[in-house]
Amino acid sequence: MTRPLLRVLGAALVVLGACGLAAAADYTGPLIDAHSHVSSATALDPYVAAMKRHHIRKVVLLGVGGLQREEAEWIEAAARKYPDLVAAGVRIPDPTNMAAAGQLDVELARTKARVMGEAHIRHVARKIERDPSAPAFMQILELSAQRGVPVVIHDELTPAAFASLEAALAAYRQAIIVLAHAGGAAPAALERLLERNANLMVDLSGMHFQRTPSLAKEKGPLDPAWKTLITRKPDRFLMGIDVWGPPTFEPAMLDRLMTWTRRVLGELPPAAAERVAWKNAAILYRLD
Ligand SMILES: [Zn+2]
Repeated sequence: MTRPLLRVLGAALVVLGACGLAAAADYTGPLIDAHSHVSSATALDPYVAAMKRHHIRKVVLLGVGGLQREEAEWIEAAARKYPDLVAAGVRIPDPTNMAAAGQLDVELARTKARVMGEAHIRHVARKIERDPSAPAFMQILELSAQRGVPVVIHDELTPAAFASLEAALAAYRQAIIVLAHAGGAAPAALERLLERNANLMVDLSGMHFQRTPSLAKEKGPLDPAWKTLITRKPDRFLMGIDVWGPPTFEPAMLDRLMTWTRRVLGELPPAAAERVAWKNAAILYRLD
């Protein structure tokens, strides 16, 4: 082999090596967890320690439907203890109650919260099946529109649930609905829903490696269909971790979840990653 040929081969190997290494690096920019919960008055302490380790700027704390009676106090206590880190949402215990919108209005005025939820619309494991286009929820959407405060919903989408969600979205175009956990929907179906409804946002919380559907396994690549959709519509998605149960507050588990989050975001084009990681949440929930 001649020396020039060796040099060419050497250069080619360097290029190949660089391509191999060019596998996406973790996202290192600002990060807001746009959807998590607390399971007790002190649950957030290990989470805040993990936020500091992983440079998470803020966490939006939401209610878990109507499951935890003392939750509003826990969330408010967390916000008082960590005012720079916690954005407290107003819980929606029962979105079918005709008094709900009036109570939410009072709570929004009192707390100055910039998000309501999460409301359980369709939650199979809890045997909850509600119609988001029914009158009580319509009033909540009217309130959302009046106050400019988005509503986060848990709605495991079937074809029928897609239709009722779309009816709700169409009834109040000034109200913004945030579909938690992407509604468990397939990316293609979700893309059509996003295209038809500008007042729909999607949070990707709870789509981590411990749940199904997930965006990616713990060490595996971001699902190509999700990567394509998020890259096409980066202004419509928010990242969240959705901690709740005590096992998710274990420091080692928090490290795994937060590391996974930054790794998955790192697979998106940098501008899209920034939008999903924090910019969309900062705008939507008016976080500073
Ligand atoms: Zn949640």
